[in-house]
Amino acid sequence: MNEIFHSVKLIEENCRGCTKCMIKCPVEAVRIKNSRAVIYADRCIDCGECIRVCHYNAHVAQQDSLESIKGYRIKVAIPSITIYTQFGAYVEPGFINMAIESLGFDEVYDMTYACDIVSEIIKKEIVNTPKPAISSFCPGIVRLIQTSYPELIEHVVKVLTPIEVAASLIREKFLNSGFRNEDIGIFYLTPCVARIAKESNSNFDQRGEINGAIAISDIYTKLLKFISKNSELKDYYQKKISFTGLSWAYVGGQSRSMGFKEYIGVDGVENVIKVLDDIENGKFKEVEFVEVFACTEGCLGGILLVDNPFNARRIIRKYYNKNGYASNTENIVDKYKEQFTANYESNKNNSHKFADDFSSAVIKMKEMNRLHNMLPGIDCGQCGSPSCRAFAEDVVRGLSSEEDCKMIINGGEKDEG
Ligand code: SF4
Ligand code: SF4
Repeated sequence: MNEIFHSVKLIEENCRGCTKCMIKCPVEAVRIKNSRAVIYADRCIDCGECIRVCHYNAHVAQQDSLESIKGYRIKVAIPSITIYTQFGAYVEPGFINMAIESLGFDEVYDMTYACDIVSEIIKKEIVNTPKPAISSFCPGIVRLIQTSYPELIEHVVKVLTPIEVAASLIREKFLNSGFRNEDIGIFYLTPCVARIAKESNSNFDQRGEINGAIAISDIYTKLLKFISKNSELKDYYQKKISFTGLSWAYVGGQSRSMGFKEYIGVDGVENVIKVLDDIENGKFKEVEFVEVFACTEGCLGGILLVDNPFNARRIIRKYYNKNGYASNTENIVDKYKEQFTANYESNKNNSHKFADDFSSAVIKMKEMNRLHNMLPGIDCGQCGSPSCRAFAEDVVRGLSSEEDCKMIINGGEKDEG
């Protein structure tokens, strides 16, 4: 198994031990040890919720600066499709791409086209995938499935994300024009931290490599300046933008672009967990496709965006109303299908497994249940674990000690001090 790169890091000295991140982390990846937060890397899915809730900037996303593009002869930006919704009012995507280019890029690669390619592959691949098929688009959720629902990995459609597809196509273009691989710097303009982690963990070959991820919020002011200064160009229309591809940014948009009728769209990690639990219990076999997003309102709710996600959705509707709803993917499927297959199995890592052999795992599970039954079940968090169940598990794993629970020490009396 590859070592997982995490984009969410902790600056220990900033932490005040307030427990907010521990309480809010949807996968119980945070503990408080010696009055400071600790992230359990094998559980973290890089959803960024801890960044959202920490008032002391103790959780941060590791990302690249615009400066880092200077290290390459050819500088390419792949903007997330969400960027076209961030300017509060209708601005032609072609004009936004022009603004991005002005930051020093030689080319801005349109990802809507790559979304259309992936849509076409999914439409073919879905017949080989157990129902319901699960979208591989949100890297946070793919990681959640790999760590907590390994039996569901076979439901995840085996196709690369549009970002990887876009990177592969643009790199191929420059390689064919005689540039060396190391000359080509491809940067994803990202709305969320999970994407930073995913692109760094990509097990795709060198062609799909992303050299860096730049937060949209970091370049937003510069883009806004260009847009305001050059407002006479605001109707600049770029014909190749696909509006079916653009719909991948919101919940239900992927299914709509592929014409699926029986689908579920779900956002927010807690909600996704409920749906994955149901799928694990054999539900939704009649559903063709499940779209899952870690962020509320899908990618439009990404933590590195600027505008309100609900307003962003309104802007997308404006695009459709003005430009129609058509894709541009004729004759591409056979050429790309083999090239863009993904193997999500390779990063499988069940963080809930107690031991590799069955009998040791059963013994530890019994021990955990015994301890859990002794605990008060009020999830007070004083032990530094997010719930009594998590605490019992931590003790069995050797990560905490029974004495960390004040209730056990006090013989069942809650420590009010
Ligand atoms: S939210 Fe977490 S990281 Fe931030 S101060 Fe509180 S305990 Fe520390
Ligand atoms: S990024 Fe998400 S999963 Fe990781 S520690 Fe923060 S809240 Fe938990």
